[in-house]
Amino acid sequence: MSRSFQTPIWAVSLGWVVTVGFLAAYDFIVHASFRGMLPSFGFQIGPVLQAFFGTVVMSLFVIWLVTLAELPEMWFAHRLPVRRLRAGCCPNCAHPRGDVALKTCPECGHDFEVVPVPYALGLRAVRRFLIALGLGLAIGVTGAELSIAADEARMRTRAATLTGPELTFHRAWPATFSRIRWTPDGGLQPVPLMEPWNWPD
Ligand SMILES: [Zn+2]
Repeated sequence: MSRSFQTPIWAVSLGWVVTVGFLAAYDFIVHASFRGMLPSFGFQIGPVLQAFFGTVVMSLFVIWLVTLAELPEMWFAHRLPVRRLRAGCCPNCAHPRGDVALKTCPECGHDFEVVPVPYALGLRAVRRFLIALGLGLAIGVTGAELSIAADEARMRTRAATLTGPELTFHRAWPATFSRIRWTPDGGLQPVPLMEPWNWPD
């Protein structure tokens, strides 16, 4: 019975890739934006943790995505078998049922006593989503930190060639609102977010 109404591996994989991919992209943008708001330059554990906890909290807003990871199973293990059954076919393989006295499907051997049950959001789905949430956080936050490190290395390389008087950098997307200023005395320093723009004359 447990062998009935299987969800194909490709569909399960697709559900995971789409869900984890979306969460990772979301966490990348949120973490990189939080880091841009914090007045720091270079890798410091304090701002990284602050941004990380902010990203975890923001992840709770997309908790409804639990349904995205479950879509393949909803279709293949629940909805599709019900539709086949209603159409007078074997719910497992779609072979026309023919003689209603038949106990098993002549095509795939499915026991006709086993009927598809409606989808219910279970503990398994919640556990799956928590794993997807963790994977998305790990990939998104790591990606954001690597992007920030590469961007700051770019600023350092450029600053090493400067002589003065000063130069203001913008952080890479998605934190382009965040600025880093180089001066001959102070080196590279974060510009306070509230400091107004100095338009060139
Ligand atoms: Zn069948």
